[in-house]
Amino acid sequence: MIYFDSAATTKPYKEVLETFNKLNDELFANPASSHLFGSKANTYLEKARNQISSLLGLNDRFNLYFTSGATESNNQAILGYCRRHKKEGNKVITSSLEHPSVTNAFKELEKEGFEVIYLNSSKEGTISLNELENALDNKTIFVSVMGVNNEVGSIFPYREIYKLVHSKSKAVFMSDLTQMIGKEKVDFNYIDMFSMSSHKVGGLKSLGLLGVVKGINIDQIIYGGEQEGGFRPGTVNMPLACSLATALRINLFSLDERRKRAKDINDYLRSKLDNNPLFEIASPLGGTPFILNIILKHTKASVLVEALSKREVYVSTRSACSSHSEGGSSVILNMGYSEFDSKNAIRLSFNGLEQKGVEQEFIKIFFEEIGKIKSI
Ligand code: PMP
Repeated sequence: MIYFDSAATTKPYKEVLETFNKLNDELFANPASSHLFGSKANTYLEKARNQISSLLGLNDRFNLYFTSGATESNNQAILGYCRRHKKEGNKVITSSLEHPSVTNAFKELEKEGFEVIYLNSSKEGTISLNELENALDNKTIFVSVMGVNNEVGSIFPYREIYKLVHSKSKAVFMSDLTQMIGKEKVDFNYIDMFSMSSHKVGGLKSLGLLGVVKGINIDQIIYGGEQEGGFRPGTVNMPLACSLATALRINLFSLDERRKRAKDINDYLRSKLDNNPLFEIASPLGGTPFILNIILKHTKASVLVEALSKREVYVSTRSACSSHSEGGSSVILNMGYSEFDSKNAIRLSFNGLEQKGVEQEFIKIFFEEIGKIKSI
């Protein structure tokens, strides 16, 4: 099998499964239970939170909450902040390249009377700082721009965004770092709120993090018991939280090495596909090496993805979260490509642990399959 779909999900590390299984076996107590077994589980939960905070380099500036994934974290951050601060201004800003868990939360805010500005995309898949600067004013309370785009791998200038947001408005800056953590280094001094997802960094599914700088108040969106300080009720899955600490330790310590391997694969694939009229590479040169998006100029992407999949070569047409809806990729479209291109882009994504030689094998199978498909 060739798995080039790590942006959709990564294979969990062996050690992650070991942590999860061991703790579920030996310390399955509810961390909110008041008996000693429960408080021991709670000690492990808090230890995991501290380890995660120090692995990410958060320097104790953030409150960290465990959620069910980046989707929930994004909803919680966007709806929770904007609803709480509506009286201070009703203008909010985001980019037109965000994940649906961000864009659709903003669509919900529009229904609640917020003015939402969707910043245009450049051809490189990021935003224009000038456009952001012009949009910021004293009514703006919230800006949300992702760290790395999940479809093309473009890297957003989050430091500059943070500085602009804080110098030109009273807004806070939230960033969906789901595709950035584990791919690029992040300086959290330039972030007010962030989301991430465990299954993108070698951890398990259905666990996310929401980080909020201490002192920033947001409304909760889930009501219930007192877990997570009453802010995010529901029994916390301590073994899952601990397995994220394990995943991040392995993932972040190996970042430079994995990045180098991803870059080798990316460079090789680019060299084989660039300057060929059959393809156009949509991923910008300055993007993360872990994602390579290729527009097929004469081949139907869905047909190719299916043909590759029959040979156990796994790639995506676009983000797995919207791969079943009609129409093309809004990211590719918003980057200025045509409707046709937006339906015929394929995303190859890596985790930097791919075996030697897979890129050569991939190219061989890729061209064999393209050759069999009638061009359009
Ligand atoms: N944001 C981005 C940028 C993503 O790539 C994803 C996952 N496709 C999400 C949010 C949602 O993450 P989760 O699967 O943890 O809900």
